[in-house]
Amino acid sequence: MTGRGAFIGCIADDFTGATDIASTLVRAGMKTVQSIGIPEADDPMIANAEAIVVALKSRTIAAGDAVAQSLAALDFLRGAGCRQIVFKYCSTFDSTEHGNIGPVAEALAKALGQQVTIAAPSFPANGRTVYNGHLFVGHALLNESGMQNHPLTPMKDANLVRVLQAQSKGTVGLIDLPTVLKGAEHVRAAIEKAQAEGATLLIVDAISEADLKVIGQACHDHILITGGSGIALGLPDNFRTNNELSDADAAVLPVVAGKDVVLAGSGSLRTNLQVARWIEAERPAYRIDVMKLAAGEPVVEEAISFFDAHTDQTVLIYATSPADELRQVQAAIGAQKAGEMVEHALGLTARSLRDRGVRRFVVAGGETSGAVVQSLGVKGLRIGASIAPGVPATVSTGRVPLALALKSGNFGEADFFEKALLALAGGQS
Ligand code: ADP
Repeated sequence: MTGRGAFIGCIADDFTGATDIASTLVRAGMKTVQSIGIPEADDPMIANAEAIVVALKSRTIAAGDAVAQSLAALDFLRGAGCRQIVFKYCSTFDSTEHGNIGPVAEALAKALGQQVTIAAPSFPANGRTVYNGHLFVGHALLNESGMQNHPLTPMKDANLVRVLQAQSKGTVGLIDLPTVLKGAEHVRAAIEKAQAEGATLLIVDAISEADLKVIGQACHDHILITGGSGIALGLPDNFRTNNELSDADAAVLPVVAGKDVVLAGSGSLRTNLQVARWIEAERPAYRIDVMKLAAGEPVVEEAISFFDAHTDQTVLIYATSPADELRQVQAAIGAQKAGEMVEHALGLTARSLRDRGVRRFVVAGGETSGAVVQSLGVKGLRIGASIAPGVPATVSTGRVPLALALKSGNFGEADFFEKALLALAGGQS
C-alpha cells in the first residue's frame, strides 16, 4: 500500500449491497472503489481511494465461513490503511436464525478490540426505519412486509433486539429514538452507559437521514460500525471536518472510449419493458433463443455476427422474455439449467465483444451481471454517479478499463438502456 491509505473500509455481505453502500459513500463525497471478493494486499485499484468496499457473498452461507471471510476482508482493509470499518448488511436485516449478522459483528469487534458496537440498519430513503428497536418497511412491520416469506432469509420478527440476540453470544441493547433526537452527545453517553451495563451490541433507532448523521457523529471514534447503507451517510463528515478528504468530485469517472452494447438476462417485468422500448424504437436487437441454446446450436456465434453486421449502431442482445414464455422454457429444460446456460452464453458474448473493441457494457439482471463481470475478469469497480436509484455508473479497475452499468432486473425506468449508454459515454451521468 502506498500513500496515506483509505479512510473507510466496508465489508458487505452481498454484491448489490456493496454497490449500494459504495454509491452512498460517493454521494457523500468519498472516492470509492468496490472490489469483487478480497483483492491482493497491494492491488493498485485501491490507490487514491478514500473508501474501499469489499463485496462478499456471505449473507446466507454457514456462520463460520461468513466469519472467516469477513475477518480476511478486515485484514485486507486494515492493511490498506482504513481507519473505520463498516460491516454492511441489508436494511431489512436479512439473516438466518444462526447469523450471520451477530456472529460476524462479534468476530470483527473482537478482532478490533472494540467492546460495544452499534447496529443501525435503518435506510429511510428506501422506507426502512427503526423505532423502539422494531424495523418497519414502509408502513409495515418487517414480519408483515413480505420479508417473512423470503426463500433464504425469512424475517418473522420485527424486534431487532430479539433477532440479533438470538444470533449473538453477547448482550444486545437498544439506543432509542428520543436519545437520538437529543443529539450525538446523548447518543455517545447512552452507548457508554449501555456498555457499563454489559451490552456488546446495540440496535439504534433511526427514522430519518438526520438521525443517521447524528449516529455517525456519535460513533466517530468507533473503529467498527455495522448497519445498512444509510449509516454511511454520516461517516464521511467525520473525516471532512478534519480536512482530510480531497476536494475532487468523488463521482467523476475516467471517460472510457470504445464501442458499446446492452446485454439483458433478467426476466423481470421492468427489463421486459426496457427491451420492448428498445425494439419499438427500431434499434437493433438480437434475441437469444434458449431452446436453440439448449440444442447446442451456435447461438453465441450468431449474436456476435449480428453485432458485426451493425457496426454503426448500438446493439441489444437479450434473453429476456415475458413470464409465460420463460415458464415454458423452464418447464422444458429446468429453471436452473436454463438460467446457467443463459448466464454462460451472455458471459461468453461479453468476452468476445470485448475482444472486438467493446468497452462500455449495460447489463440487466443481478445474476447476469455477476456472470458478465466474472467472464470479463473484472476484479474491482470505481463507483460514479447514479444513473437510476441503486444503479451507479462504474469503471472497472485494471489494465483495460471498462465502463459498466450493472442493474438488478427490476431497477430503472423504461428508457434505462438509453440513459445508461449516455451516462457511460460521458464518463459520468
Ligand atoms: P434479476 O435481477 O431480474 O433477478 P437475474 O440475472 O438475477 O435477473 O436472473 C435472471 C435469471 O434468468 C438468470 O439466471 C438468467 O440466465 C435467466 N434467464 C434469462 N432469460 C431466460 C430465458 N429466456 N429462459 C430461461 N432463463 C432465463
